[in-house]
Amino acid sequence: MVDPIFDPIEGPKWVLDGRIVPMTSEHDVIDDGRIYINGGLIEAVQPANQQPPTAFEEIVPIRTGGTIFPGLIELHNHLAYNALPLWNVPKQYQNRDQWGRHPDYRKLISGPMNVLGRTEGLIQAVVRWVEAKSLIAGTTTSQGIALFSNAGIRKYYRGLVRNAEETNDDTLPEAATKIGDVDAASAPRLLERLESMAAKGKKLILHLAEGRNDDDSANKHFLALKIDDDTWAINEALVGIHCTALRHRNFATLRVRNGSIVWSPLSNLLLYGKTTDIEQALAEGLRVSLGSDWSPSGSKNLLMEMKVARLHCQSAGIPVSDYQLTEMVTTNPADMLGWGSQVGTIEEGRRADFMVVSGKSGDPYGRLLSARESSVVLVVINGIRRYGQPRLMRELPGLEARTVGGSKRRFNLHQENIEQSVAGLSLGDAEERLRTALATLPDLARALEQGSVTALAMGAGSHADVQVGTGASISSLEGSWFLELDHLDGPEGTQRPQLPFDGVATGVFAPSAAAGVPLSELLEPIELDHLDAKTDARLWATLAVEQNLTPAVRDGLFSSYGRRAPG
Ligand SMILES: [Zn+2]
Repeated sequence: MVDPIFDPIEGPKWVLDGRIVPMTSEHDVIDDGRIYINGGLIEAVQPANQQPPTAFEEIVPIRTGGTIFPGLIELHNHLAYNALPLWNVPKQYQNRDQWGRHPDYRKLISGPMNVLGRTEGLIQAVVRWVEAKSLIAGTTTSQGIALFSNAGIRKYYRGLVRNAEETNDDTLPEAATKIGDVDAASAPRLLERLESMAAKGKKLILHLAEGRNDDDSANKHFLALKIDDDTWAINEALVGIHCTALRHRNFATLRVRNGSIVWSPLSNLLLYGKTTDIEQALAEGLRVSLGSDWSPSGSKNLLMEMKVARLHCQSAGIPVSDYQLTEMVTTNPADMLGWGSQVGTIEEGRRADFMVVSGKSGDPYGRLLSARESSVVLVVINGIRRYGQPRLMRELPGLEARTVGGSKRRFNLHQENIEQSVAGLSLGDAEERLRTALATLPDLARALEQGSVTALAMGAGSHADVQVGTGASISSLEGSWFLELDHLDGPEGTQRPQLPFDGVATGVFAPSAAAGVPLSELLEPIELDHLDAKTDARLWATLAVEQNLTPAVRDGLFSSYGRRAPG
């Protein structure tokens, strides 16, 4: 049986009215425009005073009064972790190998996720909640949430937001985010893998050189891609996440071989006190896109990450325009996925994915950069209105009402081809389930520990945290599915190459030595991460004391959300 295409080209015929920012070039903005949508595709984009296309004459446009952008694309986010609140990072780290060993990491991040990811009913609540967190910021494509079964099957949760890895659609080539051990351990093998991906128009999104660029071990993670003087395991299929440890000439090495970068400035600054040398990356002409990484050390969503990127550039004297920053969440990630002919711009024939920000005056890119969640008035994916102001969601059945960032909003969560156990779950119920679960983490951990204990067939089997009950007692999502905790490397592959440099493997992450304490004794109640940034008191209290965050970025972020800077 052939898997169904997740977003078949079908759906209503309708018209969206507002200021249109097509992202085809900086000055192509249509101040008063209309987008004619049919079956999930854009049929025409034109000024409002032009004659509508045939068969659209009778349709009353939905007037947004706002500025319409292509739906935002986030190329890096460990979504499964986004029910967890921001971590008060306890010290400054030099590279990725260090922070996972801190006892806090198991207590606050990997331990809670082990419980959430294996407990009946909570997996569904996690996927519902974390997807909503992306959606309210206008994200229409993201890295997805991987699920695995005790039968050894791996798949991606198919929700409202497109995922980059599993589309079942040849026009949206599927990206890979993991590689097998053999490819990870040999640069020639990695290059072979990259060449076979490139031949199919697919991309490999891998963590690369995480850490400070004055840290040799982080930098060697990049240098280990070198095969000989002329040959590196880099080509147009390689999308490197972070690349924080690249030094001056490394950027040219990446660029001449057509690699690209996903930049996550807040996560980098919080962990390492430093981020990617983005000035050098842009001077080299590298393609850069933005990703929030995950809620424990990153931005709440792309709107916040764009602000961090701008504040970092302003404070470091790096000339980056608001248009360039907008490219980093639209056209750049679309091109980096090989999806440029389908999404990332508003043009005839493209998928109807949009996010609309309130207001039509002033510079449109500046308006997006200063938008908070409450500024997002409508989000459309594949021609379907999924989220927005009540007036813009009128006539849709079965909406869920909610206040987001202090403003009234409606969610349209109805979906075909969805896992049945998620289909009936409202956002409010998901929130309630997660709040209760996180408040009783030690009890849930104990229940798992007391279940009949067997090793999981796949997934996190190599990790010290795993003390798993049988699938029979943790059934979920049609069978026995678990959240893949993708910060762990398991038998299904690794997220980063582990190539040898001078005979020593790089990028190998050693789990905490203190993993022996049962989770029921280690865990404490924690709070569910809030949906939006603006009204998340806990987020701001934590940001105020994050020791590695540069004051200029911190203070600018506070004022971007109408808050007084703590200093
Ligand atoms: Zn990451």
